[in-house]
Amino acid sequence: MNRTRIQEPARDIPVLMETDIVVVGGGTTGPVAAIAAARRGKKVVLIERFGSLGGILTLGLNTKPSGALIGGIPLEIWNLARSAGGAGDDYMATTKTGGVRIASPTDPEIMKMLLTRLCVEAGVQILFETFVSAPYVEDGAVTGVIIESKSGRQFVGTKVLIDCSADADMAAKANAPFVMGSGGTEAKMQPVSMYFIMKNVDLKKLADWAKTCDDVPARAIPATEDGLAFGLWLTGFNGMLRSFQEETGVKLQRDNITLKTADGQMYVNATRVLGVDVFSPREFTAAILECYRQIEGVCRFLKERVPGFEEARLGQVSPILGVRETRHILGEYTLTGPDSRGETRFDDSIAADASALDIHDPKGGDVDFQSMPPYEIPYRCLLPQGIEQVLVAGRCISADHEAHARSRNMPACMATGQAAGVAAAIAVEEGVPVRRVPVAKVQAALRELGMPLRASEVRV
Ligand SMILES: Cc1cc2nc3c(=O)[nH]c(=O)nc-3n(C[C@H](O)[C@H](O)[C@H](O)COP(=O)(O)OP(=O)(O)OC[C@H]3O[C@@H](n4cnc5c(N)ncnc54)[C@H](O)[C@@H]3O)c2cc1C
Repeated sequence: MNRTRIQEPARDIPVLMETDIVVVGGGTTGPVAAIAAARRGKKVVLIERFGSLGGILTLGLNTKPSGALIGGIPLEIWNLARSAGGAGDDYMATTKTGGVRIASPTDPEIMKMLLTRLCVEAGVQILFETFVSAPYVEDGAVTGVIIESKSGRQFVGTKVLIDCSADADMAAKANAPFVMGSGGTEAKMQPVSMYFIMKNVDLKKLADWAKTCDDVPARAIPATEDGLAFGLWLTGFNGMLRSFQEETGVKLQRDNITLKTADGQMYVNATRVLGVDVFSPREFTAAILECYRQIEGVCRFLKERVPGFEEARLGQVSPILGVRETRHILGEYTLTGPDSRGETRFDDSIAADASALDIHDPKGGDVDFQSMPPYEIPYRCLLPQGIEQVLVAGRCISADHEAHARSRNMPACMATGQAAGVAAAIAVEEGVPVRRVPVAKVQAALRELGMPLRASEVRV
């Protein structure tokens, strides 16, 4: 048989529930959106295709926001993680462009449990192991979503949908316009990577060596041995990686690598695959296989060349591929490079952000991790054009390729999640569309949560 398309028969779909707000995606952003909305007394359903919360933050083994958490629910979450022994103190990292204040990495297992507990306490209905396959659109507005689980296809009705799927799956399927990566016919996207953990690393030996090593120029090395558990961050190894590859013939894909600790374990960000179409199951799978190959090479490099790794072993490979960039929705406003460098003040700012600029060259080359002044994110970046009752939060908000290098960082993702949750709840309370929600009321509610909205208010 030579089939190119088939027709799926039409069928009735049972209604599982009706709710006020559906949040699609329980990753870094979605739980914050769900908690913010549910704490205002709204009926919220958070739908996640995997069996735990946190996405790239937890399952992806990323652990570390690249910037300070400056207020609101994200800071509350980190403070709770700290009191549960799941995070350390913030630290100042030295980079090529100066110091960057970084929120402590967290233990992913403690963070999964904490996010879940906070959702449940706020009254959020979580649906794990449930894939949202499509939004349901009536008269130009989303009124529900189609979900897939072991029970088959079901419907969840909603007044507002918050798309925290990272890829803007819902907005795109509702025909909202978007740009892939840098846009245009030659669109480039930041590369994909897969984190892994090395166990049994002698952290003290590594830290002592790194202090004297010019090949690790970006770093945070704690003053005390106690600080090593959550506070060691090293980026570089460029020269050592080059000579390792020349001498062994092992081919790696990154000029530099980053090591960071969380709860005494070493998290390694060292793999890279360029030009992957992550919406193609074949290409996605090929990228995972390539990451596995690179992980074996990097483990060998670390064990053979980096002091402190002599007795180390592979501890865990992330079960998910880390995707940095795909769709950016085209919103009511698109955040630009200059905006993200702090050059613009927005009347409708819903978050100030102090993340580093973290851009991985889509063509290869080094990673650019730069300290930058704080900037503001306007509400309009969460409002997709062409579809009603949808808000988008997380890495797929309306930002160009350059601005995305800042807004994709976890502090900004969580802040946009918080703002979307509050705005959706207020829209339901006021009985108005999310596009016409009174922004001043959203801003007042965010300020009550302790979130700075002006770049000038941020002290880092
Ligand atoms: C390798 C790598 C390293 C990074 N390093 C840093 C760093 O050091 N510091 C930093 O601040 N940022 C870093 N980032 C960026 C940052 O981690 C991400 O941009 C951010 O976590 C994205 O958050 P999100 O909520 O948008 O997406 P995610 O955390 O990916 O969450 C999306 C969630 O939606 C779920 N989902 C998607 N589609 C569906 C669907 N249809 N139905 C149900 N569920 C769905 C997914 O399973 C997932 O849980 C890094 C990113 C990568 C990939």
